[in-house]
Amino acid sequence: MPSGADRTKTGDISTLRPKKNRTKASFGAVSSLIPKRSENFDGVALDHGIGEKLLAHFLDGGFRGAVRKIELDDFALTDAFDPAEALRALEPAITHSIQKAVLFPENRSLKDPYRYVLRIIERFEALGGKVLRDTVRGIERSARVSGVRLEQAGVLECDELVLAAGAFTGRLAAEIGEPIPLETERGYHTQIMEPGVSVSHSIIWPARAFMVTPTAGGLRIGGTVEMAGLDAPPNWNRAKITVKRAKEALPDLQVVSATEWMGHRPAFPDTVPVMSASRTPGVFYATGHGHLGLTYAATTALLMGQLMSGETPDLDLAPYSVTRF
Ligand SMILES: Cc1cc2nc3c(=O)[nH]c(=O)nc-3n(C[C@H](O)[C@H](O)[C@H](O)COP(=O)(O)OP(=O)(O)OC[C@H]3O[C@@H](n4cnc5c(N)ncnc54)[C@H](O)[C@@H]3O)c2cc1C
Repeated sequence: MPSGADRTKTGDISTLRPKKNRTKASFGAVSSLIPKRSENFDGVALDHGIGEKLLAHFLDGGFRGAVRKIELDDFALTDAFDPAEALRALEPAITHSIQKAVLFPENRSLKDPYRYVLRIIERFEALGGKVLRDTVRGIERSARVSGVRLEQAGVLECDELVLAAGAFTGRLAAEIGEPIPLETERGYHTQIMEPGVSVSHSIIWPARAFMVTPTAGGLRIGGTVEMAGLDAPPNWNRAKITVKRAKEALPDLQVVSATEWMGHRPAFPDTVPVMSASRTPGVFYATGHGHLGLTYAATTALLMGQLMSGETPDLDLAPYSVTRF
């Protein structure tokens, strides 16, 4: 059998696996960031729909493999639905060719992510924060950071700065001479205003790599991972493919009025975010939250606050340090 390096050279990455210990360490680091029973969201989001259950569906052949993987990954496998009647009672719109599913009652989704963000801004401003919409073009520093150069408003002075520009944080890190291996995993969703079907859980179909979530503005169908960098134009075919696959699961799905969206998931090679002081005094990072930035957001805010104010963080932040690269 060729070595890992040889397989990469020949383009065969199907049998490459990350090292088991590293995978476990990464899994431990990211799972620590998942808020328990959404307590960190309290006071901002409870009136915006946190409380929906999440349901993962697997079709026949894919089912066993997926369940085995879930067990291996130490996920809490709470309930597996078989026979199909129980599944049908939960989600009548799902095709009868899907026979089995797994319910994750501890998962939560937001009905209205946009209003959720507005509520966070309101809360921030009520606490004395100020929101300024501009683009950071550079970072001023000598022995430590002294400000950011904005496109419109000139230099905004500061003695502490958090670089939290999602997948674009790598460009700002390069500005202070600290390159970080941050990539973008681009993803797409289609928001369908009048889908013609009623869905009450978030549904994942791993074998077809898509997710359907009921939101206040209709049904959101999302998925795909595209490695195409920060500047390439969106490939809307990817959004269309996820809708096509969702129709396999929801045969009565109608797509009359819909909008498409592409977003950047900021990702490090080990899938672990960076929450860390930079080597430049006064600069901090909060980035690289990959596929679960919303889920990790409240925990991240708590830990960054503790780190920056010199308190002992609730978690050991060593695994999230920028110096690991
Ligand atoms: C299709 C899809 C589905 C997803 N589903 C989920 C999910 O179900 N659950 C979940 O938890 N996560 C999900 N995510 C992941 C989540 O969206 C990200 O992890 C999260 O948005 C990262 O947050 P962030 O604040 O680091 O970056 P972003 O949300 O990207 O925010 C960074 C901000 O910085 C701004 N910015 C960049 N450069 C500059 C600059 N130079 N000056 C000023 N501003 C700048 C950007 O405009 C942006 O507003 C999904 C992502 C995608 C693409």
